[in-house]
Amino acid sequence: MNQIICLDETTANKIAAGEVVERPASVVKEMVENALDAGATSIDVEIREGGKDYLRIVDNGQGIPEAEVPIAFERHATSKIRRAEDLFQVLSLGFRGEALPSIAAVSELEMITKTFDAPVGTLIAFSGGKKMRLEKVGAPVGTTVTVRRLFFNTPARLKFLNQAASERRYVFDILGRLALAHPMVQFRLVSDGEEIFVTPGDGNMEAVMWSIYGSRIGSNLLPVEREANYITIRGLVCKPDVHRGNRQAETFIVNGRVVESSLMASAVEKGYQSLLPRRRFPIAVISLTMEPSHLDVNVHPAKREIRFSDSSEVYKQVMLAVRNTLESRLSFKAWSLDSSQKATPMATKEAVKQPRLRFPYESKSGKIDSYQKIRPTLPFASRPKTGLANDEVATARIGYTPEQQGTCGEVMMVSEASLSMDTNTDPIGDMQYRVLGQFQRTYVLAEAEEELWLIDQHVAHERILYERLQKQLQAKRIEAQALLVPLHLELGITSTSAVLEWGPKLAELGFEVTEFGPKDCLVRTVPTDLSGISEKELGELLLEIIAKGQTNDYRETTLIIMSCKGAVKAGEWLSLPVMEQLVTDLMATKNPFTCPHGRPVVVRLNLRDIHRRFGRI
Ligand code: ADP
Ligand code: MG
Repeated sequence: MNQIICLDETTANKIAAGEVVERPASVVKEMVENALDAGATSIDVEIREGGKDYLRIVDNGQGIPEAEVPIAFERHATSKIRRAEDLFQVLSLGFRGEALPSIAAVSELEMITKTFDAPVGTLIAFSGGKKMRLEKVGAPVGTTVTVRRLFFNTPARLKFLNQAASERRYVFDILGRLALAHPMVQFRLVSDGEEIFVTPGDGNMEAVMWSIYGSRIGSNLLPVEREANYITIRGLVCKPDVHRGNRQAETFIVNGRVVESSLMASAVEKGYQSLLPRRRFPIAVISLTMEPSHLDVNVHPAKREIRFSDSSEVYKQVMLAVRNTLESRLSFKAWSLDSSQKATPMATKEAVKQPRLRFPYESKSGKIDSYQKIRPTLPFASRPKTGLANDEVATARIGYTPEQQGTCGEVMMVSEASLSMDTNTDPIGDMQYRVLGQFQRTYVLAEAEEELWLIDQHVAHERILYERLQKQLQAKRIEAQALLVPLHLELGITSTSAVLEWGPKLAELGFEVTEFGPKDCLVRTVPTDLSGISEKELGELLLEIIAKGQTNDYRETTLIIMSCKGAVKAGEWLSLPVMEQLVTDLMATKNPFTCPHGRPVVVRLNLRDIHRRFGRI
C-alpha cells in the first residue's frame, strides 16, 4: 500500500464531479438551479450535440460580485448556507457548493457575470480545473456559463455518454421539469440552432405543460389543489384517458426542487385508483410546498432525492389531492355536453351522488323482457318465489327484481326519462337522455340531447358494480346472499388450502367458503350484486381472487375482477327497461366514462359531426 496523502484540489474536484456531473443534463440542471437561486426571471439554455460539445446557460439573475467570482469555483464554496444546521432551513436549490468546481474540473468552462451595481462584469475561464483567465468584461446583469468539451479530460466518463440524440433527450427532460417547477420564470431551450420550447414565465403551470407537451396533453389537464396540515399541494393531472407506458411524464417538485420520489409517484397513481389501465401511468405534475424543517434535502449528491420527515402524511395528502381532483372534475366534465366548455361551473360532489331515479315500467306485452341468451345461473336461497328463470339472468345482473318490473307505466314513456341528478340549473341536471336500443348485442345506443352515445354494456355494468361493491366494502363488507344449495368447487389441493387460508378475506368480499375434503370447497354465499354469475364464472373468480390475495391491495384488484366477472357480457341481449336501468345506474356512478380497467365506457358522437358527415353543414 502507498503512503496516505491528501489529494490535490484538481483531483478531488474531478472525483466530486463523478457524483455531481453525470452527463450534459446534469450540468444544465446545476447551472439552471444556480440561476434560479440567483433570482433569474429568464433562463436561456442552448446546447449543441446534446450538450456534449457545447452548452450555454444565460440568466438575468443577480450575478456574482467580482471579488467572489474565483471563490465560487472553490470546493464547498457557497453563498447559500453558513452552517450544517442551515441544511434544515434550505430554501435555495443549491447548498453543497460543489457544482461549479466539479464542472470546471471536467470541461472547458467560462463564466461571465455582472451584478446590477458593478460597472463592468467579470469573466473567468477554466480548462480541466485549471484557471485560465480572470478579467473584467462588459456584460449585462446576470450570469452566462458556457461549458465546452465536457469530460474531455476524463475519457472513461466520456465513453459512457450516449449518442447526442439521447443526451439531448435528457436535457429536454430535465429542463422541462425545471420549467414546470418554476412557471414564473421564462425558459427557452435551443438545440443545434432549433428552438425546442419557450415557456411564458407568467406563473401558469398549465401553460408550461402546453409548451413542453403540446396540445393533446395540454388540453386534458385537471388542476390539483389541496392545503392540508403543513403541506400545500398544487399541480396538474391528465384525464385518465391519456396515459403513458412509464413514469416519464410524472414530475414531482418539493419546495421548487425537482425530485425523484417513488413515494409521490405511488401516491399519485393510487389517487387515480382504477381509472388507468393496468401498467399505464399518469401524466402529472405535483408540486409540494412545506416548511423546510419537514424535509431533509441532503440525501443525494445530485440533490435528486429528498427525505420527508413524515412520508405517510405526504403520501396520504398527495393521494387525496389527486383523487379529489379526478372525482370532482371528471364526473362533471364527462357530463358537460361539449367537453370544450371549460368554463362551465364544476358539479358538486353531492350532485353526482344524488340517488338514481327508478323507472317504473312494463313492457307492452305485459311480459317481462328477458335475455334470449340463456346462461346457467345459481339458485339463491333468498330468491323470490316467482324467481327468475334462467333466461332472465341479465335482468337479475342489472339489479331488477320481478316486482319492480311488473309495476306500472309504459316503456316509451320511461325511455324519455330525464336524467335529473341535481335540481339546480347545472347542465347535468337538465340532461335528457333516451335509450334507443342495442347494437350488436354489445352496445347500448342512447340519445343524449345533441349527442349519440354508444355505451359498451359490459364496461358500463362493470363500472356500476365496481362502485357498488367498493362502497359496500368501504362500509364494512360486501353484501352477500346465501345459495340455496352450496356450490361444490373442485379446486385442487393448493387452491383449496389458499381459499381456506384467505377465508376471512373472502368473507369480507361476500364469499363464504368452507372446506369439503382436501381439494374441494363449498361456496355458501356470493355477493348479492353478482347474483347473475354462473357456476363456472364463480370458480374462475375465486381462483383469481386467491391469486391476488397475497398482494397488499388485493381488495382493489378483487373489486375489479369481481365487477368484470359479474357484469353482463358483450353478446347478451338486453331488454329496453334493463338498458334504461343500466344507463341510469351508470350515470349515477362517479366515473361514468371509464371502466375499472381504464377502457372508455361511452363513445359520444355529436350532432354537428353527424350532420357534417351527411353533408348537411
Ligand atoms: P451552490 O449552488 O451549492 O452554492 P455552486 O458551486 O453551484 O454551489 O455555486 C457556488 C456559488 O456561486 C453559489 O453559492 C452562488 O453564490 C454563486 N453562483 C453560481 N452560479 C450563479 C449564478 N448563475 N448567478 C449568481 N450566482 C451564482
Ligand atoms: Mg449550485
